[in-house]
Amino acid sequence: MGKRIAVVTGGIGGLGTEICKALALAGRTVIAVDLDSREQRIAGFKREVEGLDIHFAAADVADHEDCGRLVRDIEERHGSLDILVNNAGITRDSTLRKMDRAQWDAVLDVNLGSAFNLCGHAIAGMQARAFGRVVNISSVSGQTGNFGQTNYAAAKAGLHGFTMSLAREVASKGITVNSVSPGYIHTAMTGAMPPEVLDKVAASIPAGRLGQPTDIARTVAFLSDDAAGYITGANVPVNGGLFMSF
Ligand code: NAD
Repeated sequence: MGKRIAVVTGGIGGLGTEICKALALAGRTVIAVDLDSREQRIAGFKREVEGLDIHFAAADVADHEDCGRLVRDIEERHGSLDILVNNAGITRDSTLRKMDRAQWDAVLDVNLGSAFNLCGHAIAGMQARAFGRVVNISSVSGQTGNFGQTNYAAAKAGLHGFTMSLAREVASKGITVNSVSPGYIHTAMTGAMPPEVLDKVAASIPAGRLGQPTDIARTVAFLSDDAAGYITGANVPVNGGLFMSF
């Protein structure tokens, strides 16, 4: 068997970069997918992952046709698409009263529509090869809701409904579909928050600190392992105890 081919959307971002690295170190050929408009960050990403089996491909995950082209290209060039990590995400925070339709649509399209666009095109190949691992990156906001995030929380909660339904459809075909729900993680996004706000956030987390991108990456690597075939339709919270449920 050749190396498994993994796709990580939003692959050059804070969490995406660590997920790419963890999957490459686990022996996968990794394709980081992101918008080609991020030229400087793409160059920085390429420097950071130099020497690893990680490649870059441009695509807009909110565009159904572009996702079809991407999946066909990868299957032709690499022979398969075995692991799909739907990690691309954006926020357009606003209270509902002030939120316009564009803020709603953009967040739903990138965070939730992307899972339909990519799984829709990739699932037939996974079924034909009788192997697949899909990991959708959701958020604790999707479990608890969050002030100013009706759009984001709806998309992230929706992602889990998508996860459970697709998991049922493909479980007998060697394909697992799971979601990971990060809490507060140290990234550029949280780095932009005022230090006193971050201190308050950290104090509200039972672990007493924010998580690291590697905490998420390790979880994705675990769920996408060949040996994780009996875990499907699950949501794995990685939040330092911020929100507990069963
Ligand atoms: P990030 O902004 O660093 O990375 C997101 C990446 O997605 C960016 O590189 C961006 O260019 C890419 N992207 C955006 N729109 C795209 C599109 N239409 N097509 C292709 N790529 C697109 O954010 P991050 O913190 O690394 O977050 C990664 C994921 O984790 C997101 O889904 C986010 O909602 C989720 N998450 C993050 C945190 C956190 O604390 N950072 C917490 C919970 C959930």
